[in-house]
Amino acid sequence: MIEKKPQIIDNFGRPHTYLRISLTDRCNLRCFYCMPEEGIELMEKPSIMTLEEIIKMTRTFRDLGVDTVRLTGGEPLVRKNFGYLVEELAKLGVTLKLTTNGIVLDKYLELFQKIGLRKINFSLDTLDKAKSVFITKRDYYERIMRNLNMALDMDMDLKINIVLIKGVNDNEINDFIALTRDKKITPKFIEFMPFKGNKWDWSKGVSKEEILKTVGDKFGEIETLDNPKHSTSTNFRVKGHKGSFGIVSTITNPFCDECNRIRLTADGKMKNCLFANSETDLLTPFRNGEKIENTILQAIKSKKYSRDGMDVKMDAEHYEQNRSMISIGG
Ligand code: SAM
Ligand code: SF4
Ligand code: SF4
Repeated sequence: MIEKKPQIIDNFGRPHTYLRISLTDRCNLRCFYCMPEEGIELMEKPSIMTLEEIIKMTRTFRDLGVDTVRLTGGEPLVRKNFGYLVEELAKLGVTLKLTTNGIVLDKYLELFQKIGLRKINFSLDTLDKAKSVFITKRDYYERIMRNLNMALDMDMDLKINIVLIKGVNDNEINDFIALTRDKKITPKFIEFMPFKGNKWDWSKGVSKEEILKTVGDKFGEIETLDNPKHSTSTNFRVKGHKGSFGIVSTITNPFCDECNRIRLTADGKMKNCLFANSETDLLTPFRNGEKIENTILQAIKSKKYSRDGMDVKMDAEHYEQNRSMISIGG
């Protein structure tokens, strides 16, 4: 009889097959919605997983049924020897995906083509240079746009992550939609989410209904597309446009029913949910030479059904105890 391998299944029967690994808490930008104004206390180098530890831990998760791995951060591409890491991870036979701010993406596009990494979420909140400097507190706009076009020319499967914030970039919704007319590009509008120190307030957020109204008023008919299983966005297309668009409504309409995501922070802590305050240290037992499979299988059992138990009002006492997004890995 063939022995069935254990799978990472929570108490709601949801198999967890998608691992998001934060490679670093360092970043070359300072987006105001992602990190506190005063910055974050950076992780000490020895507490960060080495590249070999990341590879071995990923192998462990793969053997427990994980088939998709997203590399994120901080900014994943600033991790030293990122090229080596991604080549080794590609050998594990999982589908690799990346979320990046694009600043140094040009250095890696050929390698990505070689190893078959095509799915990239490219964070770009504005098409306006001055606003980009305001949001990111750095001046890389030209480089980001050049690398976006380079990735498009190389036929990468690109989603554009846009965190919509009222009075900042909500007047650009239709500029992003206009890009979908002739380009196979997918803007993904993300509702502003609360994390430690990011001064969240839903009055600054833009809901799915508001987005659809804005797009419909300008472009007319919007088609609703089928959402792939486990999709975090509801997906649409303006009739006749080549590209589609998505809305990630974590606040107003969370998509937790079929959640299959787990996270591993750069310091080797497993997080069951983006909003989970509790974490499970995998790196310490791993460094002690202990097997971590059972710890992982056990840890998932404490996952709550949705948003770590927070309702739509989002409880400040709860999320202020979470990490800042920059050190979780979105
Ligand atoms: N540095 C990379 C980047 O920006 O693409 C990867 C890490 S970043 C934390 C991952 C994603 O989280 C980005 O698309 C970013 O826009 C999103 N994000 C950060 N803070 C957020 C917030 N408060 N609400 C919603 N999305 C947020
Ligand atoms: Fe850095 Fe990404 Fe956070 Fe912006 S959103 S500060 S690029 S980690
Ligand atoms: Fe999964 Fe938590 Fe995100 Fe819901 S909020 S989809 S439970 S990670």
